Amino acid sequence: MKDASNGSGLAPLMTAWDVEHQIHLIVGANPLAAARCTKSLEAGAKPIIIAPETADMHFTLSEHIHNGSAQWVRREFQDDDLTTLGREEVDRVVDTVFVTVGGNNPSASHISKLCRRLRIPVNVSDAPELCSFTLLSTYTDGPLHIGITTSGRGCKLASRLRREIAAFLPANLGSAIDRLGAVRRKLWEEDNAAGLGERAPEGDDDDTAGQSHTFNTLVTEGDVAAAKTRRMRWLSQICEYWPLRKLVSITDADIDAILKAYSSGRDASQDVDGVNGVSKKGKIVLAGSGPGHPDLLTRATYNAIQSADIILADKLVPAPVLDLIPRRTEVHIARKFPGNADQAQEEFLQMGLAALKKGQQVLRLKQGDPYLYGRGAEEFEFFRGEGHIPVVLPGITSAMSASLFADIPATHRGVSDQVLVCTGTGRKGAAPNPPAYVPTQTVVFLMALHRLSALIESLTAYSTEESTRSRALWPKETPCAIVERASCPDQRVIRSTLEHVCMAFEAAGSRPPGLLVVGASCHVLHNPNGQKWVIEEGFHGLDELHGEVDTVLAPQE
Ligand code: SAH
Repeated sequence: MKDASNGSGLAPLMTAWDVEHQIHLIVGANPLAAARCTKSLEAGAKPIIIAPETADMHFTLSEHIHNGSAQWVRREFQDDDLTTLGREEVDRVVDTVFVTVGGNNPSASHISKLCRRLRIPVNVSDAPELCSFTLLSTYTDGPLHIGITTSGRGCKLASRLRREIAAFLPANLGSAIDRLGAVRRKLWEEDNAAGLGERAPEGDDDDTAGQSHTFNTLVTEGDVAAAKTRRMRWLSQICEYWPLRKLVSITDADIDAILKAYSSGRDASQDVDGVNGVSKKGKIVLAGSGPGHPDLLTRATYNAIQSADIILADKLVPAPVLDLIPRRTEVHIARKFPGNADQAQEEFLQMGLAALKKGQQVLRLKQGDPYLYGRGAEEFEFFRGEGHIPVVLPGITSAMSASLFADIPATHRGVSDQVLVCTGTGRKGAAPNPPAYVPTQTVVFLMALHRLSALIESLTAYSTEESTRSRALWPKETPCAIVERASCPDQRVIRSTLEHVCMAFEAAGSRPPGLLVVGASCHVLHNPNGQKWVIEEGFHGLDELHGEVDTVLAPQE
């Protein structure tokens, strides 16, 4: 007896069965029986459960029985069940049998034998030698069904493979297949009505059909009939050659355009590349470009840079990142300066929208991470409101990477167990409330250096209006560091304490953009050892990775 697990090494014949209205006999009432029952119902079959009253009925089964979608025969299996419980039109022989009581159960091999004699497909759980067929691990998206079998060698691996394959496929593939299927049918009907196409649409009822040998043959001017079925040929070409990602973004309007081609007498061969007739829907990506060094871009953002039609970049996005933009791509840098931030933002939003309306791929490139003081969510809302939901890509934020490149561990056992990221500048330039002293906290202040002394003052002393002593003040000896132009060649770190940092910053002058890190963690790896401050110049964090430094970057400001 050949077993269905294919221990013989032969390939099983994989098929997709239409089992609507068929009778599926399920022997047993355990969780596996419940799973089989659900699968059968999904496929439109009518399950009959055979299990004695005493059996522990799985709750899903009880539910199916209760709502009438499955039938329960309350006793042990009897041989004549196979030939009496089936449909009338097939002389009461049941269509398929699932035995879920396990291969060791003596009834399992008995039922299997009977089924084989009666040519009834049978599946016995955990007993490949008793099965005439096995079930596949399946992935379903609308009309698309993918089934996997490892021939019983590893069902865990089969479900892993199913997940990996599913992850590889673009979302909405199922509905794209529906759409394209509908067009194919319609074209075929129209061509048929016009007496043009006697052939059924390619592979209509059998997905194994490959390309016909005429698939790519040139349609000559003299070949009138072939020329007239060009719409169908065009559709086949799309299905064969378009990248899946592009196929799934095909819209109803695109389909209409395909259908109308020819009825207007236009030569649709011009449409083969999808440029004419098929409108492109604009796409927007909102991406973070990291703290500065181009090697700190994510691959996703790098790819977005390479594929964008137009890039709208923040002023802070450093030149080496902008240098990665292909020469022909349109680039705009935000015209943000104090007092013009809102106008610059509005200008960018409108530019983005105009490009989207033209069907372009827009990349909104922001510094660091788009959702950390980057107004990213505002832009998301704006574009979503206009019907274009942005893809948002994270970036390495300066808040975490600047401290890292300054050898400051944001958390450190026994020193710091929490991190606070905040802004030194509130709305409309107002001073935000200073955070209370927490000895084990690392605090990172962005957008704070232009008002450093006021900030330090607010951390270490109460303001005149503050009467209640509700918050703890930061001791003047608290370590802190100013990190500027982190990850750029002209990176600078000033290590000091809250007491002396203002003096140090005044002496050194500012080199934006920069941030302030406060907390005991600042002195974990570098302690100024009694010096009021220490200044370190340059960025070498990635040198070792390059061997020779191959990215020599020019200072931006
Ligand atoms: N979205 C950005 C932050 C924007 S707010 C991010 O996630 O990094 C702008 C502030 O970020 C600047 O005022 C400065 O405080 C900080 N900043 C940005 N790049 C920096 C860098 N390379 N080094 C130090 N601070 C930086």
